[in-house]
Amino acid sequence: MRKQIAAANWKMNLTAQQAETLLNDVLQANIQLSDNQEAIFAVPFPYLVMTSKLVGERSNYFIAAQNCYHQPSGAFTGEVSAEMLKSIGIKYCVVGHSERREYFDETNAQLAEKINLLFKNDITPIFCCGEPLSVREAEGQNAYVEKQIQESLFHLSADELGRLVIAYEPIWAIGTGKTASTAQAQDIQQFVRSVIAKKYGADLASNIPILYGGSVKANNAAELFASEDVDGGLVGGASLVAKDFVEIIKALK
Ligand code: PEP
Repeated sequence: MRKQIAAANWKMNLTAQQAETLLNDVLQANIQLSDNQEAIFAVPFPYLVMTSKLVGERSNYFIAAQNCYHQPSGAFTGEVSAEMLKSIGIKYCVVGHSERREYFDETNAQLAEKINLLFKNDITPIFCCGEPLSVREAEGQNAYVEKQIQESLFHLSADELGRLVIAYEPIWAIGTGKTASTAQAQDIQQFVRSVIAKKYGADLASNIPILYGGSVKANNAAELFASEDVDGGLVGGASLVAKDFVEIIKALK
């Protein structure tokens, strides 16, 4: 069975003390993950080391970065490279979250560069894609997401692509309390898998975890995750409440 993942995206929230309490509370629930299940916490840069220590050697629990820069090193004040993340033992990094695309003008081409650097440093990208409301209303979501995938991923080798995690996140559902219906999530995530299959083959596509993101909550996670092509979630708001994120981890297939 392919990987099933509950990934928390803390965004720019929490003090160090609050972050420590939140992570400890989730870890104390002591959820035993099966071999194919993972819990990932995408934390702010200053907390990467502290949270990695808290997670320690617990199997299938990981800390992720929320971003990295699209250049390997140099005079880019304030930025963080993939190599720096590797040097502190980070194994996952979110790439192309819609907030970064919107507020920091990240392009599909830059995201391709980031993904290359992450693979070079043995870090698994969690690649976010998803359409705005206007595109969904015009029923253009499939073409929109296909273009994001083509422009950021289709230069990858099959070996690299096979190590990727994709998060489909409709922008109209992020932080809005408006969740995609189970059928909407399943339909487009099946489509995403078919786009990968067309280029890389059905076997490879069938092994890629595709997460759903957009107002996943403790009370809707199990229904969303039950769909064939929904392999867990990327979770913002609900990941800031320990008992809610615990329930979301427990909802993994
Ligand atoms: C996200 O941050 O990726 C997200 C999906 O946020 P929320 O769960 O709050 O909608």
